[in-house]
Amino acid sequence: MTKKIAIAGAGFAGIVIARELALSGKYSITIYEARDHIAGNCHTSRDARSGVMIHHYGPHIFHTSRDDVWRYVQSFGEFGPYTNRVKAVTERGVFTLPVNLLTINQFFGKRFTPAQARAFVESMGDRSITEPQNFEEQAVKFLGQELYRTFFYGYTKKQWGVEPTQLPASILQRLPIRFNYDDNYYNSTYQGIPVDGYTAIAEKMIDHPAIEVRLGQRLKPEMREDYDHVFFSGPMDEYFHYRLGRLRYRSLIFERFEAEGDYQGNAVINYCQEEVPYTRISEHKHFTPWEEHEHTVCFREYSKLTEPDDVPYYPLRLAEDKALLADYLHLAEAEKGVSFIGRLGTYRYLDMHVVIGESLDLARRCVDSALEEWPTFSNAPL
Ligand code: UDP
Repeated sequence: MTKKIAIAGAGFAGIVIARELALSGKYSITIYEARDHIAGNCHTSRDARSGVMIHHYGPHIFHTSRDDVWRYVQSFGEFGPYTNRVKAVTERGVFTLPVNLLTINQFFGKRFTPAQARAFVESMGDRSITEPQNFEEQAVKFLGQELYRTFFYGYTKKQWGVEPTQLPASILQRLPIRFNYDDNYYNSTYQGIPVDGYTAIAEKMIDHPAIEVRLGQRLKPEMREDYDHVFFSGPMDEYFHYRLGRLRYRSLIFERFEAEGDYQGNAVINYCQEEVPYTRISEHKHFTPWEEHEHTVCFREYSKLTEPDDVPYYPLRLAEDKALLADYLHLAEAEKGVSFIGRLGTYRYLDMHVVIGESLDLARRCVDSALEEWPTFSNAPL
């Protein structure tokens, strides 16, 4: 007899597991999705007027260095070639990100070679910081005050709502610093954007007779009794009815506007100054450079602390959140028959490709083992 599995959330964390379990032939899977669409925060659809593919919860650029993950996503749809090249508007002009040789040469009015630029930036870094304890120290150690203040301080304060000294150094480590002219935002081996959008990919993933999706329905922890195992990709604290308090997130607000032609000449432009209230503007037709559209649709992106009715995006993970997280982890470990997955389920700042990779690994592990051995987490959240 097939075992009954419930999954909370039809984002990639949940549907990759659904697909892999369904393929094993041993499970029937019900996915509960509170919203009226699948694909979670990766949801895309074409704008009726312009035909532009809209990323409804902010731009998602797929990139990974895992061969299996790249092959996997491509097996559900074609990916068009796309390289994320971000521009930054600062008080000193417009520059290319991540910080690279062109940024350095233009910013300082120099003609450095890679070796000269490296030596110059190193000479500006604060060598008294040996083990950076936070975002600011990490940045100042490697870049010095001038680059840090111009490109990172204001943006980070707006994005996270706190002084960068309160944030972990790991957030900055997401961004490379380069001493050549490579302005690719990511270091990943593979990068692309699905030609028919992420929701089309998600639809293909759940297209299996053993998978049922219930839109507009929330999996309640009490329903756990009806299933042999539950995968929960909603906020971990929600699962426990916020019994110990709320884990904090940053949320995003998107201010949509339209124009004719080309509004900003690039998919993503960051606004690094503290006085500009938004963090970035994305112009979605530039994510599909192989398409042509006369009309254009853009979004100004604002960041705020998540309130109960907001969509959570970025786990804040400050010291007090981590202390609370540690308490929730105890509750989670004691909860039998439930695995917590994805960005919200594990309260980590994970990109799509990491979520998909983790879910693939977890599903393969589950298919190969008895249900009683399925882990609470695929990776340690703290
Ligand atoms: N960041 C910054 N200035 C920028 C871009 C990024 O200070 O112009 C910092 C900021 O703290 C941000 C982090 O780097 O949260 C990671 O940036 P990334 O672009 O990876 O963020 P995401 O696209 O996930 O929002």
